[in-house]
Amino acid sequence: MAQNRAIQKISDQIAARVRHAIISHHKRSGTVLFSDTTLRDGEQMPGATLEPHEKLRIARALEETGIHSLDAGFPASSAADFEAIRMMVGVIKKPVLTALCRTVRSDIDIAAEALDGNPLHKKGVSLFCGTSPLHRIHKLNRSRSEILSIISRTVGYAADKFRIVAFSPEDASRTEVDYLCQCYKEAIDAGATTVGFPDTVGLLTPRKAADFIKAIQDGVPNLDRALLAVHFHNDLGLAVANTLACIEEGANVVQCTVNGIGERAGNASLEEVVMALAMHGDQYRRKFRIDTTKLAPLCQLVAQLTGVMISRMKPIGGANIFATEAGIHQDGLLKNPDTYLPFRPEVVGGGELQLVLGRHCGRKAVAHRLAELAITADDQDVLAIMEQIKQQPKGVIIDDHKLRQLVAQIR
Ligand code: MN
Repeated sequence: MAQNRAIQKISDQIAARVRHAIISHHKRSGTVLFSDTTLRDGEQMPGATLEPHEKLRIARALEETGIHSLDAGFPASSAADFEAIRMMVGVIKKPVLTALCRTVRSDIDIAAEALDGNPLHKKGVSLFCGTSPLHRIHKLNRSRSEILSIISRTVGYAADKFRIVAFSPEDASRTEVDYLCQCYKEAIDAGATTVGFPDTVGLLTPRKAADFIKAIQDGVPNLDRALLAVHFHNDLGLAVANTLACIEEGANVVQCTVNGIGERAGNASLEEVVMALAMHGDQYRRKFRIDTTKLAPLCQLVAQLTGVMISRMKPIGGANIFATEAGIHQDGLLKNPDTYLPFRPEVVGGGELQLVLGRHCGRKAVAHRLAELAITADDQDVLAIMEQIKQQPKGVIIDDHKLRQLVAQIR
């Protein structure tokens, strides 16, 4: 028995050293690790419920996109979440699968059951507990010290079962900074390998978000032993900006959702954060492993399966992103697509550039479309067609069929 205990102790020590080495490596490499919570925080929004097989499809697409970890669900909260995670185990191989848990032992036991079968380095739990005065007094009725001991006990319990353990103080952005740092220190001492900073009600601005990250880096003495993750909500339309501000300040992990779906005004949008990093490498100087050409199809898949439609103007995935009806823009785009685009459609796996023919369109776009359709037309014809287009009722778009009718009319 004593011998077994000694062996166990040595193996725990080795595991702890390996863990520390991996965390140090991630931190030194400067890589931004993307954690996706479309299947948990995203799916949590009213009307976005997914069936387990649909979650599996999205998980596959996220895996192909290069996501580092998947917040796969809250197995203690519903049988469907449990089933969805069971379907992913052994099938989704590259990302780490994590399950959300309250700081309650039974939640961790259920998560262990749901994730059973995945190797230790590909599964983890993500524990959360309210820490702000509002949560402590009104929701939990617990003192600061009681919450610290809950964190210590439950993170310790999770660390006995999992090598990857994240702890997030819920409503962190409304928690006293000194107390927040104590919560993180306690969690890391108990074995947390990631600590999260969630702006649960989405109220921060980029500067205040960055200030929190600085304060945490200065105030948590054992932060070298854990990754720092951030999670922003979009109640002020700042979730992406806040996420980027924290990346700039040194956050290691960013949690996002596809199309920004999530509670209330949603979460930081994965595709927007990725493209900002991709286009501003000189500013952020951080590596990431996302294949940007998978983004637009991923956005479409999530919209189709959740039923949450993408606004036409939504960056990256919206229908208007590569479409224009403005004559001057059309003329420029025909000469060189870069004149009026920040990036070309193929960079995000988007569709073709669309020069929409409508009341605002220009001669060049009409002539271009006629040529594509092999309809011969001289300058006079094009001008006559333009006159017809400008007289159309508002909102009418001239498709190929309608264009042929207009050609017939002027002849
Ligand atoms: Mn959230």
